[in-house]
Amino acid sequence: MAPTPDILPVSPVARLPQKPAEQEAAIQAVLDGAAFAGARGWVPATSGNFSARIDADSIAITATGTDKARLTRDDIITVALDDPAHPRASAEAPLHIDLYRAFPEIGAIFHVHSPAATLLSLVDAPKGAVRIQGFELQKALAGVKTHEVTLDIPVFANSQDMAVLGPQVLARLGGAPAVPGYLLAGHGLYAWGRTPAEARRHLEALEVLLGFEFERRRLQP
Ligand SMILES: [Zn+2]
Repeated sequence: MAPTPDILPVSPVARLPQKPAEQEAAIQAVLDGAAFAGARGWVPATSGNFSARIDADSIAITATGTDKARLTRDDIITVALDDPAHPRASAEAPLHIDLYRAFPEIGAIFHVHSPAATLLSLVDAPKGAVRIQGFELQKALAGVKTHEVTLDIPVFANSQDMAVLGPQVLARLGGAPAVPGYLLAGHGLYAWGRTPAEARRHLEALEVLLGFEFERRRLQP
């Protein structure tokens, strides 16, 4: 019997460099990020997508249709950033790839269909952003030094056409996004970081801040 390969098979169309250590670290980051979100109920009914950079040219990302709360290594695929046509790629994989290509410093991207993000993005879609202000937890976001900073989390109209949505996102984020995340109206939250740990901190901070804002509006209508 052939020995079990210690790296995942890659798409035949993706001529990827074989970097087992970097690939293994990225796969583990995806597994950890998805388990973290799954334990909090943020990826219901196979929703969400999780990815981590392997190197300048490739990422590990969850395959379509998998239960992100109960992932195995077989549920994670390797995709080349310049050749993303993997047969098991999610419809939303292009949104991840667009960010990795535009921002070389991004090391991981976590996307969830979490409750507060989904609800507030729908309510505030006409304004184009959800405004967060006055919470100490804002300092969990890289570069934010005080709760006095106003955070406007961008909201984009939801779309099934990633060829349209992806360029819209990049055009609005510009060269240096003020917030490490954005919302799709009635859909969910994308959050990223330079490392998987930072992406997870940003994901959690943004979802909790959105939950605070949701409750604040009920207390102070
Ligand atoms: Zn989604």
